[in-house]
Amino acid sequence: MRKDYIVFVDFDGTITAKDVGYEMFRKFTDAKTQPVVDRYRLGKVNSYTCLKTECEIWNRFPPEEKDVLEYLKKQGITDGFADFTEILRNDHVKMYIVSEGFDFYIEAILNSNGFSKLDRITNKAVYKNGEILPDFPFLGQGCGECSNCKGFHIKKLTDPKSSAIFIGDGHSDFHGAGAADIVFAKSFLKKDLEKTGRNYFEYGDFYDIIEIWREISSRKLFAFSERLFFCRISGNRRNDFENLWETGEVMKNVGYPQGLGWSNQRYDKFWETLDRKSFVLFAVEDKNGRFMGEAKLSFPDEDNSCSHDVKLLPEYQGKGYGREAWGLLMELSRRRWPDSIMSVTPSVENAVAIELYKSLGFEFDGEQREWIPSSESPAAVPVRYRRMIKF
Ligand SMILES: [Mg+2]
Ligand SMILES: [Zn+2]
Repeated sequence: MRKDYIVFVDFDGTITAKDVGYEMFRKFTDAKTQPVVDRYRLGKVNSYTCLKTECEIWNRFPPEEKDVLEYLKKQGITDGFADFTEILRNDHVKMYIVSEGFDFYIEAILNSNGFSKLDRITNKAVYKNGEILPDFPFLGQGCGECSNCKGFHIKKLTDPKSSAIFIGDGHSDFHGAGAADIVFAKSFLKKDLEKTGRNYFEYGDFYDIIEIWREISSRKLFAFSERLFFCRISGNRRNDFENLWETGEVMKNVGYPQGLGWSNQRYDKFWETLDRKSFVLFAVEDKNGRFMGEAKLSFPDEDNSCSHDVKLLPEYQGKGYGREAWGLLMELSRRRWPDSIMSVTPSVENAVAIELYKSLGFEFDGEQREWIPSSESPAAVPVRYRRMIKF
């Protein structure tokens, strides 16, 4: 399996054309479950209470089992889903179905459509004598609100160096979207994300997703904001990075007024060992794939502090891109290491950076210090800096 991506897909209304769980309860209880669903959609009860209540209402007058099974058999799958699973399989990308629905109907639908082998993490229920007896194996794990928190599973299953992709449509997908690096959204989820300003790809069916997935995969897209795309480095980006680091205007505030001055040999060594570093380096690109600079997502050090970094080419400075790149980096960091602090060490002469960090919530930590370069870096000059941190 590839390590760079992991995909999570909601079931009801995403894989199935309709919200089967909701409609099944509604249909076979003469819409008596509608009021509790309305309360859930308004945020007045959580999904656990909603699902438990729906089962209770159902069990008062259980419908004929054969009618239910007949109904489930008729449920359609969203266009393109079979092709999408096939493409991910060929691309060696792991996929999980994550759902707050119940296994008995999810399984029935997946099996009758040839998807019995797909991995899934769902609520459980025994469907017996017409009654639905629910079980919530993941209740209390994660946010404490969801009956089966998608955010919890995504965080648990995603390697920090992987980009988690989430595809959903409903209110119960909100925490899943929050834990993912790339989100596909429609319907209720789209509306919920719009309120928060989170960026997402809109889709109608899986053919839309396939088209965007091809772009994600070919650009090695890891995450994106309004104007910026963080992409993993591919071989042809090497020159762009080296050019960035050899530009004095970019590097003067970190002690290299003429650029790093590294030999080809030194660069070779750096690129060879990149995968083993305790950070992920991204090319910051615009919509059209133009190289704008770099963003570095750093793992927490022994003091639980992350030293992320952004460097932009001179022509992209002073246009708010730095702030936007930092915003995205901080999102990626919070998702992976919610308990760690972030630290930066701007030169005391770099007023622009200090202002930016202040506006992002960083505060000075300690007095001015001086960095003295080692003899291995002849191009470097000393830098007076102050550490700033953000909790
Ligand atoms: Mg759904
Ligand atoms: Zn949750």
